[in-house]
Amino acid sequence: MNTRVKLTITLDGTILSRAKTVADQKHIPLSRLIENFLQFLVNPHVYCFKCGERFDSSNSKICLKCGWIICPKCGACGCGLSEETIAAVYHMRRVYEDLLAGKVKRE
Ligand SMILES: [Zn+2]
Ligand SMILES: [Zn+2]
Repeated sequence: MNTRVKLTITLDGTILSRAKTVADQKHIPLSRLIENFLQFLVNPHVYCFKCGERFDSSNSKICLKCGWIICPKCGACGCGLSEETIAAVYHMRRVYEDLLAGKVKRE
């Protein structure tokens, strides 16, 4: 098992107390939420927009043409999609990238 270490952080008191309420409702310890997020930050996983396969972005390829991560299962990327679909996926991915403070994977 991994070594457990103690983390001391300072953050907005209002956010923390609200987060504790939500965490309590979900029966998830705050430490696990932070750990999950940090794990996600280090190695974000994504779901293929086409086949739904979940895969780690860190060990997947990027399409040189469209700059999207290529699904290792079905090989889908942004190529050949309509403008509307590209816009829809792009805007959903923004939530992700807001959370990660940057792109899911750099080209
Ligand atoms: Zn796929
Ligand atoms: Zn492509």
